[in-house]
Amino acid sequence: MTEEQNDHLSATRSIKFGSRLTQIEAPSDLPQRWQGTPIEDFIAAHNFEKPIKGSSEPKLLIVSCIEFRFMPQIPRNFAYMIRTAGGRISHIPGAEFALAYILANGVRHIATVGHNDCGMTKVHAYKGKLVEALIEQGWEKEHAHDFIEENAERYAMTDEIDSLEFEFIRLRSLFKKVEIAPLFVSLSTTRLHLPTWYDQYK
Ligand SMILES: [Zn+2]
Repeated sequence: MTEEQNDHLSATRSIKFGSRLTQIEAPSDLPQRWQGTPIEDFIAAHNFEKPIKGSSEPKLLIVSCIEFRFMPQIPRNFAYMIRTAGGRISHIPGAEFALAYILANGVRHIATVGHNDCGMTKVHAYKGKLVEALIEQGWEKEHAHDFIEENAERYAMTDEIDSLEFEFIRLRSLFKKVEIAPLFVSLSTTRLHLPTWYDQYK
């Protein structure tokens, strides 16, 4: 895909997102509290062409959407990953169990990565298709319908950057001694950005 064809997937050039994201172009653009941490390593791999060299133990938890167009640039052994539709874990019952496991294994840094063009902003228009997909797998019509109705609200979001902020606040209140980095990837590239709302939490 050329850059021009890819333009609709650029978060930084879009009206919806452009002014709400800060570019990270050099290590000095990172909030000081992330410098020298696994969060810096993760951002450097995406933005500064500085691949992470092998790791002997897990250092980071990456939380992101199931989105196939986003692939974290990390080697094996470096990070735990939790991927859910929409990239939020704090509203999924029982997610704290996985977090407890990861914390018990020594991880103290979380990168929660949002992205533009997220399918979870279109869940309500998609509900019919979701129900059909389950019926095709042998689910009873009524059960499939109720299941999708029940869960659509949990997974739906109206705005990807606002949703990232709610998740950040929620995670921070649940896990007080972990450093949490809210990041936003533009699907036209692999670059990570800072949401401007993060300024008030620095
Ligand atoms: Zn998504």
